[in-house]
Amino acid sequence: MKLYNTLSKSIEDFKPIDENLVKMYTCGPTVYNYAHLGNLRTYIHEDILEKTLRYLGYNVKRVMNITDVGHLESDADEGEDKMLKGAKRENKTVWEIAQHYTDAFFRDIEKLNIKKADIVAKATDYINEYIEFIKGLEEKGYTYMANGNVYFDITKVEDYTKLSGMDLEQLKTASREEVSIDVHKKNPQDFVLWFTKSKFENQAMKWDSPWGVGYPGWHIECSVISLKNLGEQMDIHCGGVDHIPVHHTNEIAQTESYTGKPWVKYWWHSEFLIDQDGKMSKSKGEFLTLSLLEKKGFNPLSYRYYALNSHYRKQLAFSFDSLASAENAYMKLKSRIRSINDNADISEMELSKEAIKYKEEFKNCLEDDLNTANAITVLFNLLKADEVTNSEKIKLIEDFDKLLSLDLLKDEEVNEVHDEMAEYIEEMIQNRQEAKKNKNYQLADAIRAELLEKGIMLEDTRQGVNWKKIN
Ligand code: AMP
Ligand code: ZN
Repeated sequence: MKLYNTLSKSIEDFKPIDENLVKMYTCGPTVYNYAHLGNLRTYIHEDILEKTLRYLGYNVKRVMNITDVGHLESDADEGEDKMLKGAKRENKTVWEIAQHYTDAFFRDIEKLNIKKADIVAKATDYINEYIEFIKGLEEKGYTYMANGNVYFDITKVEDYTKLSGMDLEQLKTASREEVSIDVHKKNPQDFVLWFTKSKFENQAMKWDSPWGVGYPGWHIECSVISLKNLGEQMDIHCGGVDHIPVHHTNEIAQTESYTGKPWVKYWWHSEFLIDQDGKMSKSKGEFLTLSLLEKKGFNPLSYRYYALNSHYRKQLAFSFDSLASAENAYMKLKSRIRSINDNADISEMELSKEAIKYKEEFKNCLEDDLNTANAITVLFNLLKADEVTNSEKIKLIEDFDKLLSLDLLKDEEVNEVHDEMAEYIEEMIQNRQEAKKNKNYQLADAIRAELLEKGIMLEDTRQGVNWKKIN
């Protein structure tokens, strides 16, 4: 398999350290709010990566953390604690917030047919291990104390920016101009390993430590959780591209300083899903969630189909129009498959040479740095192929779907009435937007009223117009 490696900035041949087991780590969600569609895009592609490895015959051990402590508003240790912010917003304890959004996250990924990691580790379950890790770094001279916090000194490591390729001198100059920078840091890129209560007097999550009562910095959890569960070296570490300059850079600095060994062989990053205003973010107020899509009548797997039709290393601009056309294509695909499926017993069937060619092509697309869009094209070509029998097609589709996980053979009735209704509503919304643009507010109001009469209420938001059924 060919895979792009952020560390070498090139496509490489994938060869695991131990040929019998691929060790894989994926940074998990910060559970202070729902996952947005951008986060879910990253988890869908990570799922494809894991399933491709399994499809190619590798054994995989995958670990994911749940960030329930330590992540401040900015990745570089500035601003408010994200968990505390969630708790204040909802008048709950931080522990309740963490539980609620962890459950919501697992419900979302289940709906998207994303396989759960083999090991899911809560950051707050590893406090003693963080303390041991920081003590180790302290003994080796990588840390300093200032204003009650323990910092990692980045000048002690060689090639701190090797992952991002950024120029450290330039970074330093740029950060000197930032007003919010922590004055206790010796270098602007130094980061906190352990905060004591001096940072937030009302910190709810805190533990005793040799440096005082406090809580761990954010980056430490991924280093320690992976060392504990995968050992000192691993094959693939995943996350979104936002993690390259700070989070993953800091993870590398502290882990390699601690073990004295190279840590991760392949760094894998997926590009952003963006909305009309640019970057999608959970802290921006209202944002796009899977439940919102469901409320609008979309099938969650249409979003998976939509995501798989773009490459993970390309930005994708979200719009409801493009999602609707993806849903349309996905529904047509499913009904085409239904029309050729006679539910014959295919378990013992041998594939012909012609059919095997499609299997090879499908595999080649995935081995080509996970080209899921091309893999889906192979599926469409297979459906059109005259030289392959329908039973063979179904057998291949069953095989492809182990990876694509689009429930291609699941025989649920597509709700045609619902589809027609949704299409009609979307059309009315378009007409109303058009009327508003032409300052024809009378027509716009009339359209709203007409929909309301049919039990559909419109809501204007910054992301566009939402609709919901009312009784
Ligand atoms: P978080 O819950 O913010 O820690 O992020 C969870 C995962 O989603 C991380 O791997 C992030 O890098 C990734 N991520 C954050 N924003 C986006 C986005 N707009 N598009 C794709 N992935 C994202
Ligand atoms: Zn991480």
